[in-house]
Amino acid sequence: MDATVSVNGHITDAAHASISVFDHGFLYGEGIYETLRTYHGAPFLYDRHLRRLRQSAALMALPVPFEDAALLADIRKTIAAHAGGLQEAYIRVLLTRGVGELSYNLAATPAPTVVIIVKPYVPPPDRTFTDGIRLSLVSVRRNHPQALNPMIKSNNLLNNALAMQEALKSGADEALMRNQAGELVECSQSNFFLVKNDAVVTPPLSGGLLPGITREFVLELADEFGVPAREERLTPDDLRMAPEAFITGTTREVTPVVRVDDLTIGSGRPGPITLRLLEQFRARADELSKRR
Ligand code: PMP
Repeated sequence: MDATVSVNGHITDAAHASISVFDHGFLYGEGIYETLRTYHGAPFLYDRHLRRLRQSAALMALPVPFEDAALLADIRKTIAAHAGGLQEAYIRVLLTRGVGELSYNLAATPAPTVVIIVKPYVPPPDRTFTDGIRLSLVSVRRNHPQALNPMIKSNNLLNNALAMQEALKSGADEALMRNQAGELVECSQSNFFLVKNDAVVTPPLSGGLLPGITREFVLELADEFGVPAREERLTPDDLRMAPEAFITGTTREVTPVVRVDDLTIGSGRPGPITLRLLEQFRARADELSKRR
């Protein structure tokens, strides 16, 4: 593993990074995380990621033991410590309840654990953008918000992992998930959009999904460039009529979807609205990162 890791400020290579087995992040999956990436060496949309991290933490009464600027300094230090240097970095920030007795009582864990993992950012193969990817509509349903709210970007990723493993078994690149009502909500590691009557449409947060930073950014970009965009409840029937579909995510940018299981989306090639949004997304990421 070509990673450099900071555990509570102690920076090591991957092999020497460790936390206690009594960390409640490990014992109970009690923790949250953010995945960021750099463009031109700068963590992209850092403020938005930190806003979401604080929101995730608040939803599980987890104290955040750092200021945004201090964490950014630690991320930069971890990147700088990477042997051989990093062209562009993948950054994962994890915050757990910390080490304590085997108990769900918050009093058991006085100090949260902060982990920063950085490694080279390896972009998805070019063909995923030029040819599009295939999703599988999986049987695993997204967690019900009243059971485990998908708004919490939780380290407990069993729901996502089981969905993705089902998709991989059928040879797909990503798992498309429904909520308990059978509505499309999001994918195992990305948000889902389709084109409907020339508008870009994505399920509303109230359906029970992660408020993706890329999702939010793409909705704003669409607005700015005069592409009608809205949140609307979607069902699997909408896939049949959709001329285009795509997913969004920090590491996937805007990735065209050309098939869902055996169903071909539109012409089976990435659509013009999707490709325009991808181009605008990349141009804006470039521009915002160079300005720093
Ligand atoms: N949904 C889920 C379940 C995810 O894990 C991710 C990736 N973190 C996303 C959506 C996309 O979010 P973002 O655009 O913030 O990377």
